[in-house]
Amino acid sequence: MPEISINSYIKLLKNSGISFFLKNEPNKFYIKKLNEKNKKFKNDISEIITLKDLEKFIKDSDNCKLKNHANSTVISDGNEKSKIMLIGEAPGAEEDKIGKPFVGAAGQLLNKMLNAINLKREDIYITNILPWRPPNNRTPTNEEIIECLPFVQKHIEIIKPELILLLGATASKTILNSNTSISKLRGKWHDYKTINHNQTIGCLVTYHPAFLLRSPQNKKESWQDLKQFKKRIIDENL
Ligand code: URA
Repeated sequence: MPEISINSYIKLLKNSGISFFLKNEPNKFYIKKLNEKNKKFKNDISEIITLKDLEKFIKDSDNCKLKNHANSTVISDGNEKSKIMLIGEAPGAEEDKIGKPFVGAAGQLLNKMLNAINLKREDIYITNILPWRPPNNRTPTNEEIIECLPFVQKHIEIIKPELILLLGATASKTILNSNTSISKLRGKWHDYKTINHNQTIGCLVTYHPAFLLRSPQNKKESWQDLKQFKKRIIDENL
């Protein structure tokens, strides 16, 4: 996880559903407040068990200022029953306009990459670390990533994929809680443990299609990664 301030860390705990710490004496005032909150579950993501409720929770959330600049809250696309999940960084201009992930130029390349290993968009489930477009497509800040981390963690917990393809540095470093560079992480399998600790999921890191559009010379490595990913899909009969 990137280095963050104490305030951001407390915010992360809060957004992850931790609403109180155990005390010797129950604090009646706080418990009353907590019960009121839980009724609406507006601020308690740990209550959420369905995608529909997660979508509503994210759309209602006001914990990240990026939302104020965005036209759409971009949640996900693809097949929610799929055992294969892809995670990108954040919506770009096209995605912000249309409200779906990976529909712009990077999305077109991603479709081709999937087709190369006989997968269609309907075969996979795709989401991003951030549901809102950072202004001018700038790289998200650590604070923004931390604010939105509970959304993607919950997403993984609900979808229960058996394999995850992490697209690019932001998705990889965030999900793997790592500061290692993408060039070292890519092409290798890593484990991700869900927040409820019920599942460990194999994650393969590869380059982001937007990076490949800028650096087509890296497509060769990306093809090696995709072949590895496909092999495990076949081996695990997914
Ligand atoms: N890049 C991403 O990471 N996600 C999108 O949805 C579009 C472009």
